[in-house]
Amino acid sequence: MIEGPLPTICNASGRLFGEEKKKAVLAVLESGILGSTYGKVVRQFEQKFADLLKVKHAIAVSSGTAALHTAMVYLNPNPGDEILVSPITDMGTIIAIVCQQAVPVFVDIDPVTQNIDPAQLEKHISPCTKATPPVHIYGSPADMDPIMEVARKHNLFVIEDCAQAHLTEYKGRLVGTIGDMGCFSFQQSKHITTGDGGIVVTHEDKKFGRELRLYA
Ligand SMILES: *Cc1c(COP(=O)(O)O)cnc(C)c1O
Repeated sequence: MIEGPLPTICNASGRLFGEEKKKAVLAVLESGILGSTYGKVVRQFEQKFADLLKVKHAIAVSSGTAALHTAMVYLNPNPGDEILVSPITDMGTIIAIVCQQAVPVFVDIDPVTQNIDPAQLEKHISPCTKATPPVHIYGSPADMDPIMEVARKHNLFVIEDCAQAHLTEYKGRLVGTIGDMGCFSFQQSKHITTGDGGIVVTHEDKKFGRELRLYA
């Protein structure tokens, strides 16, 4: 039973930070190394996140938007290429697309799940369509089987936007591990937070991971 209004995302009472976390933050402050280039903590976090999702690579970046942008830079669309995307999402999904001079094409949602409607997806495919980032909105997974079927048929790259769906399962698989890449946010309103932050995951080969690292 919840009594009274829920705390806003800017209210410290809405989060629990135990002694372990406070110690970990202090250890970083006292180590003298605050950046991820020389520090070890971000690398450890990447490894733990990769292990958690059972993927080969997890590359940490500064936000969920940066994660989506990194994936989009990897995709390297030509100016004017089209990316099929849900109209219900955070602006970060769209920013990543327009930053690479691609065009977001909005595909209608299923009114019940509020996720992209796979039946609508195929109707919006043109010769310029390059990719789709299904957005797993409000913690509920997009219907990935039919989305992947359409994507594979038309050679589309699938970048899962998991910013609101950490550890969400779709038919027993974790979201972010079903498409070609998964992008997560650790912004302060998300299920797991580092204040700001994001990560791109993929199980593709070494080169894929190295290229992502360079873009990040
Ligand atoms: C929050 C969010 C993003 C962007 O993440 P930031 O860390 O705020 O840049 C992208 N997509 C969705 C669905 C989100 O909820």
